[in-house]
Amino acid sequence: MICLGIESSAYALAVGIINDKREILANIIYNFKPPKGMGLIPRDAAEEYSKKVYDILTEAFDNANLKPENIDLIAVTIGPGIGHCLRVGISVAKYLALRLKKPIVGVNHCIAHLEVAKMYTGFKDPLMLYVSGGNTQIITYKDGKYRVIGETLDIGIGNLFDVVAREMGYDMPGGPKIEKLAKEGKNYIEIPYTVKGIDLTFGGILTYVKNLIKSGKYKNEDIAYSLQETVFAMLMEVSERALAYTNKKEFVITGGVACNKRLQEMAKEMCKEWGVKFKPIPSELARDNGVMIAWTGLLMYKSGIRHKPEKLRELQRYRVEDVDPIWLKP
Ligand code: AMP
Ligand code: MG
Repeated sequence: MICLGIESSAYALAVGIINDKREILANIIYNFKPPKGMGLIPRDAAEEYSKKVYDILTEAFDNANLKPENIDLIAVTIGPGIGHCLRVGISVAKYLALRLKKPIVGVNHCIAHLEVAKMYTGFKDPLMLYVSGGNTQIITYKDGKYRVIGETLDIGIGNLFDVVAREMGYDMPGGPKIEKLAKEGKNYIEIPYTVKGIDLTFGGILTYVKNLIKSGKYKNEDIAYSLQETVFAMLMEVSERALAYTNKKEFVITGGVACNKRLQEMAKEMCKEWGVKFKPIPSELARDNGVMIAWTGLLMYKSGIRHKPEKLRELQRYRVEDVDPIWLKP
């Protein structure tokens, strides 16, 4: 069985194709780049996705060496995400399903990150740290459902990096710039550390760091280094607490920020101390991508989940707890 997955919840329009033997046949990711100094403007991103979607789909079919008729199932992200952007993917997916007379399933974006991480690592029941532009969550399977057991109380960690880099005068995405600058930083500057149990906050840190930049007293390299060390230590503290609380023996990090080598290094050390298995996942499966949607769609469909195309709509605040993951149940 071959599934095509479409992802368009925020900064990426992506199409992935995978079969039930776990072979990735295509993974095309197009990232929206806002004008210099700006964040994502939903209407502009949606318009660009509408223009690009034909090319991205064509490229995916070409890469997979398949015709649209060869696809058995269409999967699409229905949330959480930005309404304008989600609607582009959902409309295209519905059209394809009707035109090709194929079934369609609507997928929860956060669960898809977790399922593809499990597929890649071979882990059965990991604790997952999901760190992206808009999200910072600790998710795991507990009592029959995926549950968010800890999260940011304000902005996502990727957003923090993006805004800090923007204040320094760099383009989006800011995370890779911060990582590069941090490598050159030597002097640690004290930055507020805000962990509350298994939850975190980054808003106060952002204000603090903006003021450091404005003061003109510090090198960007030192600011980036201190910021990275502080917020990654916070991530590790909540992850350790969550591991102790859930007793999980496997750990994965996903989302765009999971590409950061320093974060991977810290996670490796932390897991070694706890006797927990850890394996980093490649960037093209950690970032927002279509393969994760296609793979989760396959799991859902094979477990008997069926969605009516006319009923599928975007759920901007779709929580992982709203999904009954029957594919995990005997
Ligand atoms: P996503 O929303 O999962 O596609 O992730 C996008 C976010 O990941 C953006 O906020 C990026 O700045 C961030 N990001 C990407 N690469 C890195 C990196 N190497 N280090 C830190 N953050 C990163
Ligand atoms: Mg994501």
